[in-house]
Amino acid sequence: MADGMGCKCCAYNESECGCGVDWTPQEIYDLREKGLEMREDIMLLRARIAALTAPPSEGEIEIAAEAADIGYYEAKAAIETFMEGRR
Ligand SMILES: [Zn+2]
Repeated sequence: MADGMGCKCCAYNESECGCGVDWTPQEIYDLREKGLEMREDIMLLRARIAALTAPPSEGEIEIAAEAADIGYYEAKAAIETFMEGRR
């Protein structure tokens, strides 16, 4: 509980209170929780950015080469040119 809820000594604030309840504003707890959620969102976005900007794996290059019916190194160069254009 926060905001002095449950105070049994009829205090108006923490300095008057003798029963030791939590006088931390509820807003502090709400903001801490929101901060944690935002931190998780940032980590998720960083992971997505890393996945989008990572160099292609050999398997991905092979798939692209086969799909475009071109050689491995030609596909690799095309992917690298495409990735450079996105930065
Ligand atoms: Zn009290």
